[in-house]
Amino acid sequence: MARYTGPVCRLCRRHGDKLFLKGDRCFSPKCSFERRPNPPGPRPARRRKISDRGLQLREKQRARVTYGVLEKQFRRYYEEAIRRPGVTGENLVRLLELRLDNIVYRMGFADSRNQARQIVRHGLISVNGRKVDIPSARLNPGDMIAFTPRGTRSEHYKYTQEVAKSKNPPSWVSVDLSNMSGRMVSPPEVAQGETHNFNENVVIEYYSR
Ligand code: SF4
Repeated sequence: MARYTGPVCRLCRRHGDKLFLKGDRCFSPKCSFERRPNPPGPRPARRRKISDRGLQLREKQRARVTYGVLEKQFRRYYEEAIRRPGVTGENLVRLLELRLDNIVYRMGFADSRNQARQIVRHGLISVNGRKVDIPSARLNPGDMIAFTPRGTRSEHYKYTQEVAKSKNPPSWVSVDLSNMSGRMVSPPEVAQGETHNFNENVVIEYYSR
């Protein structure tokens, strides 16, 4: 299962916006984008105007990087989104939100999607009582997420018990902090600016050319 392993702060600087890929650090003065908001690499001799296609590409990359998905898989999400009834852009975001690593993050059991991905891969998370170690696994309303026995013995569990109290999960998940579990109660609600910081319609325009 391939994933991006380079410096993630560089991605924020490349896309010209905070993508919140590093948990608490993103909200601290240590955030690289706060300190150096210019794009990485040498300063260009002259600023080029970005074409419409370039802007669409940038938005698509921003969406892809936000959820930590590589190009091939992201395109598969798009192809599934157009097959589904309803608004394609919303379908796309909803499919991304249904990933197990995203829901672990949304429930407050990880500081970032990257960290959620890691704890899933390490076998610390169960879905409906069974260990699931595939970050892209798709969840359905009613599914129950908890820590596995191995997860409850981990350092991450102790840390999360403390920090999860300060998290603010969305209304479509319910979290029980007394036993560190959560349930997806309804399909994800998607709203640009609240759930995600990219324009999904521009992403669809990029692929539909
Ligand atoms: Fe982006 Fe977070 Fe790094 Fe800031 S700290 S540049 S928001 S990943």
